[in-house]
Amino acid sequence: MEWCASLPKLELHAHLNGSIRDSTLLELTKAFIGKGVINFSEMEHIIRKYNRSLEEVFKLFDLIRILTTDHSTVTRITKEVIEDFASENVVYLELRTTPKRNDSVEMSKRSYVEAVLKGLRSVTSVDVAFIPHCEDSDRIFTPLPAINGHVRKRIFVRLLLSIDRRETTEAAMETVRLALEMRQFGVVGIDLSGNPSIGDWTTYLPALKFAREQGLCVTLHCGEVPNSKEIKNMLDFRPQRIGHACYLGDEHWRQLKSSKIPVEICLTSNVRTMTVQSIDVHHFVDLYKAKHPLVLCTDDSGVFSTCLSKEYKIAADSFGLGRREMFELSRNAVEYIFADSRVKEDLRKVFNSVAKSME
Ligand code: 5GP
Repeated sequence: MEWCASLPKLELHAHLNGSIRDSTLLELTKAFIGKGVINFSEMEHIIRKYNRSLEEVFKLFDLIRILTTDHSTVTRITKEVIEDFASENVVYLELRTTPKRNDSVEMSKRSYVEAVLKGLRSVTSVDVAFIPHCEDSDRIFTPLPAINGHVRKRIFVRLLLSIDRRETTEAAMETVRLALEMRQFGVVGIDLSGNPSIGDWTTYLPALKFAREQGLCVTLHCGEVPNSKEIKNMLDFRPQRIGHACYLGDEHWRQLKSSKIPVEICLTSNVRTMTVQSIDVHHFVDLYKAKHPLVLCTDDSGVFSTCLSKEYKIAADSFGLGRREMFELSRNAVEYIFADSRVKEDLRKVFNSVAKSME
């Protein structure tokens, strides 16, 4: 896995609360012992387990929903998630999260996002660039002076605000308005996620249209369950990217391929949630052979016990791809990011300098 870890990588599909470290989850769970809310021994067993079943994965999401309800926890997990991605050479991270209200701790959707931003600012172990237009475009690829032989890592971070499929049209609109207000702090787009069996496409459409009219990028969880009509409606909407794309029929594939909408591929997540039967029949192969825009992502690195380097290793091993091919796969993802062209230019330079060292 070493060379996969050393490759520069871009993470474009990571849910904040699904990316929590196991150790943090355990610590937060312990704090709830005796409160009668959590069955600690059952949860401890699931947290310590490596190969969690689908049922256990959903139990973890329920647990996380109970644990990460205050500002300081949101700040903490944001900081840790960024540190974790940076530590495995993720040079650009688009982190997505659902802004939540929690009246009992005076949390509004806005204050939730502010807590996330506080987490971004509190990272000290790596350099985090998240404010648009303030970054010196030469900084990222000019080597910083090494201290004791150690060069500090740098990571660009951008945020996507997620609309949960349980939300109303008005709640979805609130999220989009918040995203617009927060653009100056690195919010670049909107995601539609949450239980794919819940809700109706027409509920979120006004908010998604508004987001696009206002210049925000949109990515949709698409085709996680067999719902042909919704998949078609989503592809007709022409989002900037889609996630998963597991249950597409022949006509959908044709439409997707001609539209060239980039697909965020989450291998471990798809296998674990059984939206694909097994890795060897994953649609990655078909899309890769068709040279369709693709990016490998983790989805929920904490919940699925994975990391981006592991996803690269799985793809390399399962689909017979070599180091150079994996490098190009990673490099191509620069073109699908939601950040502006200056960031893209910086990232191209990062990859160009690594390409030279590989010659
Ligand atoms: P959060 O938005 O709270 O930071 O991240 C966790 C949330 O992301 C989950 O509660 C769920 O709404 C959404 N999520 C995480 N993984 C998936 C996935 O694989 N599919 C869908 N549709 N939603 C997901």
